[in-house]
Amino acid sequence: MADPVAGNGAPRSSGNGAGAPGRGGRARSGTVTTRLVVRGTERVTPHLIRVTAGTEDPADFAPFVDYPHTDAYVKVVFKQPGVAYPEPFEMASARAELPRERWPVLRSYTVREVDAAASELVIDFVYHGDAGLAGPWAAGARPGSELLVAGPGGNYSPDPTAAWHLLVGDDSALPAIAASLRRIPAGALVHAIIEVADPSERQELACAGDLRLSWLYRSESPEHGIALLDQLRALRFPAGRVHAFVHGEAGAIKELRRHLLNERDLDIDQLSISGYWRRGFDDEGHRAAKAAERAVEEQQLAAAAKAAANAATKAATA
Ligand SMILES: Cc1cc2nc3c(=O)[nH]c(=O)nc-3n(C[C@H](O)[C@H](O)[C@H](O)COP(=O)(O)OP(=O)(O)OC[C@H]3O[C@@H](n4cnc5c(N)ncnc54)[C@H](O)[C@@H]3O)c2cc1C
Repeated sequence: MADPVAGNGAPRSSGNGAGAPGRGGRARSGTVTTRLVVRGTERVTPHLIRVTAGTEDPADFAPFVDYPHTDAYVKVVFKQPGVAYPEPFEMASARAELPRERWPVLRSYTVREVDAAASELVIDFVYHGDAGLAGPWAAGARPGSELLVAGPGGNYSPDPTAAWHLLVGDDSALPAIAASLRRIPAGALVHAIIEVADPSERQELACAGDLRLSWLYRSESPEHGIALLDQLRALRFPAGRVHAFVHGEAGAIKELRRHLLNERDLDIDQLSISGYWRRGFDDEGHRAAKAAERAVEEQQLAAAAKAAANAATKAATA
């Protein structure tokens, strides 16, 4: 996934970028920040807060218009209280001028909708309680509140050459799933499996394709992601090449990834998959854990490659 804030440990997924027209999947370079102003908020469901924000200057909004990927996301920038940031705010100058511990705190959020004519976008925030920064911020946001965002970045859009589509995720991935469903053309087969807290969190989802939609509820299966895995295991895969988008809680995603790669034999390039958040960790902790897991994976791959090379040399000299 292209990173809207380089060096911020943004999610990496094995997205393919297939079917992405136009800008060839590149995020806006570096650390450009856009200042948006909240125009409205809405409790769409008990745990979902929709924030609409925009800018008066269409030039500022240009990077969001016709962005090719349906998982387009921004880094929402939270200035730390008591820190004087360079004005007008730019991430690059904040980072250049301030020590790391005073840098703003960032959180990733999907751009669910864009209204180019109004230079405004919509972000759906899961309200997961009083912990954290972004959820509570959304709960307190009012028309006129500042919303600083860096990006967009992204890497997935439904591949028009796929035989069918698979979209799997929890509430945090629902905005990207909703945006992706809107891009699926008439006649295309799509299975969507979405886990939310309970039936009150369901939303209407628009899709021109042949949508087979399953809502799963943690009120019935409290562990995050277990129901997703069970449902995916039970799904009879249609014939032909699938293109899949699978995102949500990191522990659940690990199991879903294992299932899709090992038990369903998907190639990694058929998959956009990553943990969007991690139970028991804030986003900084999640990114640190992800980096540590990646380092272990890379060590294992290097060891396997070395063992294979040694075996090949032995066989050649035998
Ligand atoms: C590319 C990308 C796109 C994303 N898009 C969206 C989006 O559109 N909408 C959205 O709501 N989230 C989205 N997320 C997830 C979001 O970035 C995280 O949930 C983030 O941790 C929320 O920040 P916070 O400050 O509210 O909580 P943090 O300070 O990060 O965490 C505080 C506590 O809350 C817990 N927590 C965090 N998120 C959740 C959750 N969803 N449910 C339950 N507990 C949670 C943590 O485990 C921790 O214990 C996206 C993530 C990525 C990587």
